[in-house]
Amino acid sequence: MGAPDLTELAASFQGRLLTDAADTAPFLVDWRGRYSGLALAVAQPDTTEDVAAVVRWCAAQRVPIVPQGGNTGLSGGGTPDASGTALLLSLARLNRVRAVDPVNNSLTVEAGCVLANVQQAARDAGRLFPLSLGAQGSCTIGGNLATNAGGTQVLRYGNSRELCLGLEVVTASGEIWNGLRALRKDNTGYDLRDLYIGSEGTLGVITAATLKLFPLPAAQMTAFAAVSSPDDALRLLALAQQQLGAALTAFELISDFCIELVERHFPELRRPLAGHSPYYVLLESSDSDGEAQATERFEGLLGEALAGEDAPGRPTAAPCITDAVLASSLAQARSLWAIREHITMAQMAEGKNIKHDISVPISSIPAFLEQVDAELERRFPGVRVVNFGHLGDGNLHYNVSPPDWGTAGHPPTDLQALQPDINRVVHDAVIEFNGSISAEHGLGQLRRDEAARYKSPVEMALMRSVKQALDPLGIMNPGKVLG
Ligand SMILES: Cc1cc2nc3c(=O)[nH]c(=O)nc-3n(C[C@H](O)[C@H](O)[C@H](O)COP(=O)(O)OP(=O)(O)OC[C@H]3O[C@@H](n4cnc5c(N)ncnc54)[C@H](O)[C@@H]3O)c2cc1C
Repeated sequence: MGAPDLTELAASFQGRLLTDAADTAPFLVDWRGRYSGLALAVAQPDTTEDVAAVVRWCAAQRVPIVPQGGNTGLSGGGTPDASGTALLLSLARLNRVRAVDPVNNSLTVEAGCVLANVQQAARDAGRLFPLSLGAQGSCTIGGNLATNAGGTQVLRYGNSRELCLGLEVVTASGEIWNGLRALRKDNTGYDLRDLYIGSEGTLGVITAATLKLFPLPAAQMTAFAAVSSPDDALRLLALAQQQLGAALTAFELISDFCIELVERHFPELRRPLAGHSPYYVLLESSDSDGEAQATERFEGLLGEALAGEDAPGRPTAAPCITDAVLASSLAQARSLWAIREHITMAQMAEGKNIKHDISVPISSIPAFLEQVDAELERRFPGVRVVNFGHLGDGNLHYNVSPPDWGTAGHPPTDLQALQPDINRVVHDAVIEFNGSISAEHGLGQLRRDEAARYKSPVEMALMRSVKQALDPLGIMNPGKVLG
């Protein structure tokens, strides 16, 4: 059978169809430049009906479909393979805000809406849409839901899954399922919404979503604190949870090496505290009380952490922080967050590294780090760990860089060759600590085979049954999530 006739496809929907290599090129390589592929064409439909027409054409022709939103995914899920037989389906033009309901605290948007625009639409209605991550200026809500993205506010508001009330989906056969229910309660059978969320485009195409909104916080406090160890960071977390309760919205761990990288590649972002500490915590609270009360509570927390009290009047053996700065303006808070958000870019600027997106029970983090740091140093002397992440969720980006960066005359380490062994050390330990090898970035093609090794045969068989039931032709993003 020859290549399918694209003129027929072009006629079947109203959007754009790109076929020139120069036009399609940006869609065929992932954000990190790690994966690249080829495609028959890039289809850019404007409406859900057009998405359905494209999918029906693909199903009839048995053409694989690779959905793509903002192409910021970190697991290669939105990149086609090298065969050139797949159609890349970009949802970027499906980007309208359909409805806002401030009384129901809900917002319905199309899948291609950029996350920052979704946040703005909520703000325009006097509400908060709390999903927040470094790629928010480019990633789309469809991609966020397809990967069940986490980000920096999970501690208080949950992952993308918890922020979604309903979905509209084009199924693998090209039918439209309107599940845009703006309900907090709906126990009417299997939860199809939850099946599509996190399925990374392998079961169907998300075309719109109804999202949960929250009251805008009256006051937000941000601080950057130095801690001597992950253990002390956890003591600070416990204290902050006790003192701030649900107002604690973010709790990020950052190693000193991360700060060094940001300083080196983004010198305009200055180190917030003098001197060096092995680790830092960036913490944030969002209060419904006024500014004065929020400041008092937050200053009280930092004071107790510095003085070494578990609770007012109950001294502990040692303070859990050694220094701290509390942002005194929105601009200062933004510059503290900018440091956190530039770590990934600084790492990229420095050179290749091996990324891990792991989670373990929060209480196990110090033991996990002690074991894996030591094992990596024993097996691969001098490797450097770029460790940061959402400590409050037990999720760390435990990335590994070669030992020889910046060492003149040192032969470069073949990181690619070391990757399987380094992954094995890190991920075997993750499983030993009852964790996950992909906390928030999904499996895509990056973690597909490792997940198959670590998951039980029962779990893999159930996942294959779901895939077979919802995509019997196997055209939805083949080779991603499942082999
Ligand atoms: C600087 C930076 C920081 C990041 N920080 C975080 C973070 O803190 N937390 C986090 O979780 N992630 C983070 N990410 C990863 C990434 O931004 C998220 O995975 C995001 O949700 C991807 O959205 P996207 O629109 O770019 O999706 P894409 O990259 O285009 O696609 C991702 C996957 O979803 C599928 N997909 C996309 N749209 C649809 C759709 N409409 N229907 C069905 N399937 C679809 C694709 O096929 C692919 O498998 C970060 C990335 C960068 C570059």
